[in-house]
Amino acid sequence: MVFLTALTVIAKLCRLMLPDLPQTIEPLRLAKAGKNIAGQYVLNELKRLNGLLHDNTGFVSFMLEFTRDEEQGLYCVTGEIKANLHAVCQRCLGSMELQINSPVYLGIVNRQTDISKLPDKYEPLILGEDPVSLLELIEDELLLAIPMSPMHELNRCSGAEILSEINDAAPNRPFAVLKEALIKGHPGLNQRRKIKM
Ligand SMILES: [Zn+2]
Repeated sequence: MVFLTALTVIAKLCRLMLPDLPQTIEPLRLAKAGKNIAGQYVLNELKRLNGLLHDNTGFVSFMLEFTRDEEQGLYCVTGEIKANLHAVCQRCLGSMELQINSPVYLGIVNRQTDISKLPDKYEPLILGEDPVSLLELIEDELLLAIPMSPMHELNRCSGAEILSEINDAAPNRPFAVLKEALIKGHPGLNQRRKIKM
């Protein structure tokens, strides 16, 4: 009799949750055939994302529809990606939950296409000789969807508390004075720099 540990049960459940996804896709062929691809990746598979996250637990799920935009006369990929990330707050460097729910609008073009003529709502998906990695495509979309400087709301950020404590404790605002000195090229400050060097 086989006893399943909690970990093997979790691993089995994860495999059940994740459908087999193609490693590479041919977007134009899929668009001409009107195919859809939906699935999930575990976040730690997205290596370029890892440096941006507090931890890489969780999933990104996506639904892509390969189709033709008749109005614009181009083949495209539309859909959405969703993820619940633990990003690094750029104020306090703590973990912050970031819900990503981002639409996908990719116009399928080749290297000869003048992408400046692509309708505004589409980002170019430029096809080269090689097939497109599905994982990298999802990773690209997720990277674009993450704000440049994610931060907690002010009233929920420990960094904001520390800043306000510093301001309260220093009624003469030493940082403001320092900033002013830097801007004006204060001679005293230059002196200290020289000594330091
Ligand atoms: Zn914060």
